[in-house]
Amino acid sequence: MAAIRFTALSSAYNREANPYSSPKSPVSEYFGSNVFDKKKMKKYLSREAYEHIQEAIEKGTRIDRKIADQIASGMKAWAVEMGATHYTHWFQPLTEGTAEKHDAFLDYGDNGDMIEAFSGKLLAQQEPDASSFPSGGIRNTFEARGYTAWDPSSPAFIIGRTLSIPTIFVSYTGEALDNKTPLLKALHAVDKAAVDVCQYFDKDVTKVIATLGVEQEYFLIDEALYNARPDIVLTGRSLMGHASAKDQQLEDHYFGSIPERVTAFIEEFETEAYKLGIPIKTRHDEVAPNQFECAPIFEECNLAVDHNVLLMDMMRRIARHHKFSVLTHEKPFNHVNGSGKHCNWALATNTGVNLFSPGKNPKTNLQFLTFLVNTLKAVHKHADLLRASVASPGNAHRLGANEAPPAIISAFIGKQLTDMLNKIEKKVSNEKMTPDEKIELKLSVIKVPSILLDNTDRNRTSPFAFTGNKFEFRAVGSSANPAVPMIALNAAVAEQLSEFKKDVDKLIERDVKKDEAIFQVLRQYITDSKPIRFEGNNYGDAWKKEAQKRGLTNITNPVEALDAYLTPNSKKLFASLDVMSERENEARAHIRWDNYTKRVQIEARVMGDLVMNHIVPVAIRYQSELVENVKGLKELFNDKEYKELASARLELIRTISQHISYIKAKTNDMIEARKVANKIEDEREKAMAYATKIFCYLDDIRYHVDKLELIVDDEYWPLPKYRELLFIR
Ligand code: ADP
Ligand code: MG
Repeated sequence: MAAIRFTALSSAYNREANPYSSPKSPVSEYFGSNVFDKKKMKKYLSREAYEHIQEAIEKGTRIDRKIADQIASGMKAWAVEMGATHYTHWFQPLTEGTAEKHDAFLDYGDNGDMIEAFSGKLLAQQEPDASSFPSGGIRNTFEARGYTAWDPSSPAFIIGRTLSIPTIFVSYTGEALDNKTPLLKALHAVDKAAVDVCQYFDKDVTKVIATLGVEQEYFLIDEALYNARPDIVLTGRSLMGHASAKDQQLEDHYFGSIPERVTAFIEEFETEAYKLGIPIKTRHDEVAPNQFECAPIFEECNLAVDHNVLLMDMMRRIARHHKFSVLTHEKPFNHVNGSGKHCNWALATNTGVNLFSPGKNPKTNLQFLTFLVNTLKAVHKHADLLRASVASPGNAHRLGANEAPPAIISAFIGKQLTDMLNKIEKKVSNEKMTPDEKIELKLSVIKVPSILLDNTDRNRTSPFAFTGNKFEFRAVGSSANPAVPMIALNAAVAEQLSEFKKDVDKLIERDVKKDEAIFQVLRQYITDSKPIRFEGNNYGDAWKKEAQKRGLTNITNPVEALDAYLTPNSKKLFASLDVMSERENEARAHIRWDNYTKRVQIEARVMGDLVMNHIVPVAIRYQSELVENVKGLKELFNDKEYKELASARLELIRTISQHISYIKAKTNDMIEARKVANKIEDEREKAMAYATKIFCYLDDIRYHVDKLELIVDDEYWPLPKYRELLFIR
């Protein structure tokens, strides 16, 4: 088997012969060439249609049927010129991927000839057969029908020969069956709430958008080796594999030079990404061997989410051209780092101001402070929901382990800002400040920008860190749809900003001056949200104790973490902002519990299959060889000599037997535990059984398999080992 392992390597990749290699022209010349963007809209649409669609993008206004027909016709003309033959509504159902169903433009024309046809009706709405997508019970009570509806704020694009139209996906009764619908609603809510607050500072602000820059980590492995690992193929991660003698301990991979074969892959998917208008900016080697990261320049949140899910899909496809497989699982390999998806988030105004960028004058500084403190307060109030938003079976391997942010949500803002908040807290707490003190207080706020410029102490262990002009939510798993944490975060901040406005207005009504009122409310918020701020090492045990004292939760079990969706606090948040109804919310928790169960169930099955028909048989085969060998020794040598010579072999035989017995017994126990769990009807209870009674067997069995890997003849070992999987040459 070892020989096959090595010859199967696909490293004979010839870069020159790559038919997909990048165009030679500068990226700016072909950036967005496959997108029906503003430039193409101008060219292919009437002025009226163009203006309508721009208004729809900016203000969310409806597009009427006549205009939709015009837009569809322009879009089709462009797509057909680009060689497209099909169109599809592209959406993000509550699975982890994206969905599409292609239809040809082809149709009968009026005189019976074949033509390319596409109408406003087909652009605006479709009814895919949706009965096989998860709905969390929403559809059971009504009808199985689901509708996709066009999202004009994310431009249509062409992949291959298909025009893809980003859409939302809702049930017949109007409930969201996807991630985009509640995201758009949360973004609308934060826009409205933030504009209201901005009005205190600048009357010209009429729109606030959330911005998102997604850093995507991933692993690459050779396709041939991937195919030889049924566990990775079926579960996305290796369920077994002893640590390689060398992996990341020399720290020689992080920011290292990228192997040529990998560069060829990266160049190709970046080229495709550029054509799709995805502004990828950064690429580098990550900490673990074979681990990489790419990050685009930030964009409007809804678009950035679409681009991230599109990118993940594209990377998987393009990897095949290079005989690679992309792993976006959060923990594909034990013993080395897992992968996250850092979500860099901020708010920007139509006047070109980043609300998290400290300004140059006292007014914009106060505005900066307002948004900073309100975000901290929102994170404090909805920490459990944010934790739940990143809960997944894969991410459970990261959160709480010593390499990724812990399961305790806290926020880092750096020493200077902490000092500043402390100062404000102290100063304003004395309601009867002298005028001098008030001036001093304001001056301390005015000092923000110069301080922040050299605020370089970045805390890599914090799950939610302020990094100069944005917050970085680091607890998100690499495979996640970033819409899910973005729904929670934007909704939480929207709610908080509305509260803030109410609190400030109350004081203003009592004749407190505006700036003074804002200070007073912020002061109170700084105190209220203090427990969420933590500047120290998030990985340490000391923080766990400290967090508990502060009343912060530390839920490492993802099944339990999901309960946060159903607390009165979260339900009120989503319902009051019209982001999700109680039913939609419940449906999501149920889908994710069900997903947890299924994933662990698949892992347990694969583990059972692999140990019983891959590992145990080869261990026995090798053991039999040893037994034969020992028998031979007995024949050849006298008793004394035999005892001396055979003892090491006998020890090996015993050790192998023990591991085999243990594996067999634990596998049987695991199967029994599954039978019990499978009878449970309630989704949460069932997932809980999988989390607490079955999941543990995977590591338990693995331990013995990994020990066997160290002693069984390498010629027999049926699976590529870590030392082979993890090093692309
Ligand atoms: P690091 O690894 O140091 O955190 P990267 O350069 O890898 O930094 O990623 C930073 C990400 O943050 C990029 O995607 C960048 O575009 C994004 N970003 C920068 N400013 C903002 C902002 N105002 N809003 C949202 N994202 C931002
Ligand atoms: Mg980063």
